[in-house]
Amino acid sequence: MQTDIEIAQAAEIKPITEIASNIGLKAHEIVPYGYDKTKIALDPSVSRKKDLGKLILVTSINPTPAGEGKSTVTVGLADALQLAGRKAMIALREPSLGPVMGMKGGATGGGYAQVLPMADINLHFTGDFHALTSAHDTLAAILDNSLQQGNPLNIDPRRILWKRVLDINDRALRHVSIGMGGPTSGVPREDGFDITVASELMAILTLSTDLMDLKERIARIVVGYTYEKEPVTVKELGVAGALTVLLKDAIKPNLVQTIAHTPAIIHGGPFANIAQGTNSILATKTALQLADYAVTEAGFGADLGGEKFLDVKVPLLGKTPDTIVVVATVRALKHHGGVALADLNTENVDALATGLKNLGQHLTAMGRYGVPVVVAINRFTADTETELQTIKDYVRQFGATAYTTEVWAKGGAGAQELASAVIETVEQESDFTPLYQPEDEAVDKLNAIVQTIYGGKKIALEPKAQKQLAEFKQRGWDKLPIIMAKTQYSLSDNAKQLGAPKDFIITVREFVPKLGAGFLVAMTGNILTMPGLPKHPAAFDIDIDEHGVITGLF
Ligand code: ADP
Repeated sequence: MQTDIEIAQAAEIKPITEIASNIGLKAHEIVPYGYDKTKIALDPSVSRKKDLGKLILVTSINPTPAGEGKSTVTVGLADALQLAGRKAMIALREPSLGPVMGMKGGATGGGYAQVLPMADINLHFTGDFHALTSAHDTLAAILDNSLQQGNPLNIDPRRILWKRVLDINDRALRHVSIGMGGPTSGVPREDGFDITVASELMAILTLSTDLMDLKERIARIVVGYTYEKEPVTVKELGVAGALTVLLKDAIKPNLVQTIAHTPAIIHGGPFANIAQGTNSILATKTALQLADYAVTEAGFGADLGGEKFLDVKVPLLGKTPDTIVVVATVRALKHHGGVALADLNTENVDALATGLKNLGQHLTAMGRYGVPVVVAINRFTADTETELQTIKDYVRQFGATAYTTEVWAKGGAGAQELASAVIETVEQESDFTPLYQPEDEAVDKLNAIVQTIYGGKKIALEPKAQKQLAEFKQRGWDKLPIIMAKTQYSLSDNAKQLGAPKDFIITVREFVPKLGAGFLVAMTGNILTMPGLPKHPAAFDIDIDEHGVITGLF
């Protein structure tokens, strides 16, 4: 059996200028990065193309090590729409390099449903993450320089929120001491590194609607507090302009193609456990402007990425989804039903029936937004007909239909039924109802997420979080939307509780204000913002030969 990278290497890639021209982009509207990648200029003529197309949001059950294949289905569905003679485009997130070298698994789809050039996209791509890392660390350097140069803003070094970042899984950098070496080498203090995708700048870049919006959002970032506990912003540090200059190209969406030459925009990559977890507003909007069907994906399960897409991204995007596709696999549902990873290739309808409750909770949660929901079963070779039928029978009680897709094995030809269903459902009248209003009390927003989306009992705030909320209320920050920082593996805040747990309480330890991105992060459980490497990192298996042919990259 061929690996993802072998299939990608054997695929024909068309010149990106041809793909761009096919969707109506003129030479001055693109900024090519070689033969097969281009940025799309922030030229107003691009955004005047036409009325917005239909928006299809792909999300999933809670991820398991068994694999769900959300990106694979996203790519395959767009290929299937294209195959059905429709003008479709994809809007996906950029992969983070840290996990590429750590745990196996990229973000470019799989099998015959992939975006190309797969290796480049998973590695340095068009340099967006490097630009973000540089901009983030420039701000960190400016902040420490302000302490060194007499601390005119009276910043309390013990209350600095802005850490440093790298796009590498490096647990040894989580807590570091800086400024060692005497008076000429800075002010000693405790610091730490996050992975680049956890940077507020990443969240900002993906939520900005244009260059000036980006600059204004950067100016609003709170980097820490003074000795009087007043917030200190980037505006006060005076570098919003310089940071925006560093991001002037990173803000432009990247255009590539699938194996079937369907145009795909891949842009931005905030994690869905600590940020909004979707590709950029500009990427989704451009796809909606250039195509009749824009297929996009939200990170992790519907409880994290899906909810954030609908409650945080949609208001800024100004377009609600026309259909939500929830991806599930027989394997992952059996795992939710208690089957060990080693036994997933054996038919087990009882365990599947137990695990299906996880899908049920997501269907209830997504169904409440008033948008048609369909289920895509991403078929693996070991799935039996009885198991597939069990899922189809189960989802009917939620008013949804499940379609078996085989896009990994067959590309777009493996999702024709799903594509036909989507073509129909996007025409249905939808009545989008957000989960909460900005002016709702923060605790009510949190309870709405826990009860309606997770199926839990209620929220509990630890003393620090309670104190913060009272402070935020005084500053008017409590009107911002909430980003739940929660494990992706469970509907609860305990990664080990698979399936559909009930009556659980979600405990918020503390809040992190992200004023530039425009949300409050509610920290639950033990969320790491700098991952570590496993015992056998994927990097051990990656190699390149004298012809430049890469092996082992998925
Ligand atoms: P997600 O977006 O849910 O994280 P991906 O689409 O990135 O998942 O897929 C993860 C991995 O699983 C990829 O390496 C892909 O090749 C593999 N995969 C996806 N679907 C299938 C399938 N139906 N059969 C076999 N492997 C698959």
